[in-house]
Formats: sequence, C-alpha cells, structure tokens
Amino acid sequence: MSDAPKIWHNGRLAPWHQATVHVSAHALHYGSSVFEGERVYATPDGPRFFRLADHTRRLFASARVYGINVGYTRDRINAACREVVAANGMDSAYVRPLVFRGAGGLGVLPADNPVDVAILALPWGSYHGDARERGADVCVSSWNRAAPNTFPAWAKAGGNYLNSQLIAMEARRGGYAEGIALGTDGMLSEGAGENIFLVLDGELVTPPTSAGVLVGITRDSVIKLAAQRGIPVVERALPRESLYYADEAFMCGTAAEITPIRSVDGMPVGDGTVGPVTRDLQDAFFGLFDGRTEDRWGWLTGLDVPASTDAASDPGPPEGIPAAVPDREKQQAANHGRTARQAPDSMETSA
Ligand code: PMP
Repeated sequence: MSDAPKIWHNGRLAPWHQATVHVSAHALHYGSSVFEGERVYATPDGPRFFRLADHTRRLFASARVYGINVGYTRDRINAACREVVAANGMDSAYVRPLVFRGAGGLGVLPADNPVDVAILALPWGSYHGDARERGADVCVSSWNRAAPNTFPAWAKAGGNYLNSQLIAMEARRGGYAEGIALGTDGMLSEGAGENIFLVLDGELVTPPTSAGVLVGITRDSVIKLAAQRGIPVVERALPRESLYYADEAFMCGTAAEITPIRSVDGMPVGDGTVGPVTRDLQDAFFGLFDGRTEDRWGWLTGLDVPASTDAASDPGPPEGIPAAVPDREKQQAANHGRTARQAPDSMETSA
C-alpha cells in the first residue's frame, strides 16, 4: 500500500491530499455528519468485510434521522467501500464512510448545504493495544451519556462524539484505557466507543438498546455468537454497581473488537484475569476471520461481490428519501466550486 491512500470522495477516487473540504462546511460548525466504522479482515480466503451491508444500513438510518440525503443508493455505497479498499491494495483495513453537510451558508438550518460523501480506508490494528489479551483498566466516567430525546443515541452522528470525547479524555487523564458512561438515570450505558457486556451471577448481560447506547453491530454479533454457543444473553437495565459485582466484563465494537475489562475504577473485575466466557466469545469472534468459526450468517463479504448481491437485499432508501439525488452532479459542482473559491450568496449566521 502506498503511504498516501486514495479516498473515495463524492463518487471518485481521489489522492489523499485532494480529498479536502472548505472551512464553511456545515458539519465542521454544527456536527452534522453521520458515519460508520467498518473492518476488513485478512482471512485465508482473502480480504473480507465484516457485516458491510449492516453498517451501510445503519449509515442510511442515521442519515435519515437528520434528514441527510446520502445521494447514492446503499448498493453504491457498499460498492464504493469495496472499491476504496481494493484500490489501496489492502488486505485488512478500518473503513470509514462519512456523510456530511458541506460548504454553504452558516445557518443552523441546513438550507442549501450540499451533502458530501467520503470513504477512507486506513490500516488499523487493535484499538486498545495489548488490552485485547490482558484486559483493559477502565473507569466510570463523570460524564453521562446524552439524555433521551436530546441526541438520538441510535444514530451514529458526528455530534454525538463530543460526549464520547469528554468520556475518553477524562479516562485518559486518569490513566485509564477507556471510560464507561452511565445514562442520565444513573444506569449503565456504554463506553466512549464500545458497548459493554458483563458476566453477572452466571448470566451474560448487557444494557438494553434503550440505555442511550449505539446499537452496535459487534454487540449484535456477540449476542448471536453467544446464542450459538448456548450462552443466552439478557438485555436489562444494570446499575453502576453491577460493574463491581461482575465476574467478567468486556467492551465490544468495530474498533475495539472484543476487549476484556480487567478492572473498573481500580477494582479488579473477578480475579482480574480474562474470564472463560470472554475468552470463549473472543475465540468465536476472531475465529470468523481465520476460519475456525463458521460464518453461518453471511457476515463476511469479499471486495468484488457483484452489485446484484447487495441489490437483492437492498429495499432501497427509506420512504421520503430519493434513491439518488437527480442533481448530484450539480450539487457536487456547487460544493467543489464553493469549497475552494466562492463564498455562498448569503452568510446567514446563528448559534
Ligand atoms: N457505542 C459507540 C458510542 C460507538 O462509537 C461504537 C463504535 N461504532 C459502538 C458502541 C459499537 O458499535 P459497532 O459494534 O457497530 O462498531
């Protein structure tokens, strides 16, 4: 792979340094972006995306919440994700599709801001370093997750990650690998960028999707892998102290994969080593990528899957959102023309 990977930007592959935006981009000012984080694993059969179609589905759902018209079909975005990994000659990658409101007026109401779409593919190993093996030391954050009916937690939107940054930065200042946030009701929610599972009284438990969490695709994979191994998962509201009562705990997410937690607030989880349920689920999860775990769910897809494969499972964009912006070309011209040279007609300001 070359040092400067190519980026898929508004329908074409651009050299890294050319995939730029103008400082008037709405998303820079107001956090109006939605994005995904996906992984491609080097498997014995070659590079394989993990649950690409599910990530793309969530990307479109996040966009829908904010009324952002992606301007491409899901099928096209799936193909573009593959394209960028293939074009960079990568065997494994972290892939970041990003949809954001671009350069235009500065009104909070995004009246005429075009929508930009970029897909980056970067090399990325283990998110929490060797904690994947030995377990991470985490703390409970003094910051809560966003209250219900404020920032929609199910949407993976750029603005939500201001909260995540506060949680992660506070944790790092205290010498912890990650912070775990409670909801405004004081119940366990999730990490700055991960969902949480505990082994508590012999049960594998996780906060419900109503606990201010992003409904993680890895979370869902853990639930399915556990069920297949005869380990039922109970989704229920968990108080803070459940972290201190747990025999085992782990975080999961695309970047974090399955990372055991060995201590919370300086107190060891269980005996402070990685427990058997966590190990078993880690084996099952990583086994998907080296062939030890059968992919019964069709989660792994290659880089050159014919478009029709996605189309078959792609019912198209949600109601009210056109499949493709008919004036996408015009929109891009407006965006690019403006990004570099031209101020919008009126600079309405608010906030
Ligand atoms: N919660 C948050 C806040 C996250 O950022 C992530 C990472 N996307 C997750 C949970 C886990 O989600 P997923 O397994 O889909 O990556």
